[in-house]
Amino acid sequence: MSTGAGTAARFDLPEIDDFTRPYWDAAAEGRLLLRRCGECGKAHHYPREFCPACWAGEDRVTWETASGRATLYTWSVIHRNDLPPFGSRVPYVAAVVDLAEGPRMMTEVVGGEGAEPGVGLRVGMELEVTFREAAEGVWVAVFAPRGA
Ligand SMILES: [Zn+2]
Repeated sequence: MSTGAGTAARFDLPEIDDFTRPYWDAAAEGRLLLRRCGECGKAHHYPREFCPACWAGEDRVTWETASGRATLYTWSVIHRNDLPPFGSRVPYVAAVVDLAEGPRMMTEVVGGEGAEPGVGLRVGMELEVTFREAAEGVWVAVFAPRGA
């Protein structure tokens, strides 16, 4: 893959378009946004224009700020990832969390007990959203043990 001189390819950055811009703007302010359907009442993540549960149109689906609370569903400590920039970040904890509002989200768990990633984690533990700057002005939602 060629990306031109001096530009390292990165695989952790989102494609930001007009539809997802509110999500990324909120993340930069430390808020996690969800999409909520006015037809069936379900929230979803990642953001889609239409409701993935009942296919209600974009006029029925709106942004809302999530509580930022979640519980840990599953995780894996990643020791090797050859896609930049992950190689320089290993080991890290890739996780799937259940947001308090219902949606399941792929993310990363940071912090917690001890220096060893993954130590002290357990299924169902309470997590809270926090944000990491992945690139200039681009903040991604990650989770940390509540009260940590
Ligand atoms: Zn719906």
